[in-house]
Amino acid sequence: MYCGNHMADTVDHFVPKSQCSLRTFYWPNLLLACSSCNTRFKGDKHRGDGLVGSLLIDPTREHPFDHLNLRLASGVYRAVEGSRKGQWTIDVCGLNEGKRPRVRADAWVNLEDDLTGWAQARADGDHKDMRRKEWRVRNQPFADVCHAALRRATSDDAQRSFTDTDPAIVDLLRDEELRAALQA
Ligand SMILES: [Zn+2]
Repeated sequence: MYCGNHMADTVDHFVPKSQCSLRTFYWPNLLLACSSCNTRFKGDKHRGDGLVGSLLIDPTREHPFDHLNLRLASGVYRAVEGSRKGQWTIDVCGLNEGKRPRVRADAWVNLEDDLTGWAQARADGDHKDMRRKEWRVRNQPFADVCHAALRRATSDDAQRSFTDTDPAIVDLLRDEELRAALQA
């Protein structure tokens, strides 16, 4: 729920049990998370000023990309300008810690390759290979990279966001057939 790692195998209490025991068994408060997020980074942190309510992005209510910008080439997250919540989430969840940016940058390279392969398979009429490429994209680690690219490609600042990207890749990210397959 936090870093985008697909190997999540623990359940985090979004509002920590220590802060609100009534939410211990409240389903919307139980979020799938990887063990690094759950224990090393977020843990019992919720907000820093001791007040009620969350300063963290609540992924059950908000779209993270309303607060976070992912730099695809570097894999680094930046807060959307003026979003205190975005910056707090980056800091608390350690979104740019350790190998995380590197793994996201690798995921972006893999995504570019798979999109190119998908377009080739479509041109060849090879539907089996198209499904295989779609499966690879959907199941790769750090799916947030793919979601960020799909969202960015149709945004107002797409021109500025993909200056180092092959225009054919940007066109693919806008392709209705591909978008439907990945977002199904
Ligand atoms: Zn995580």
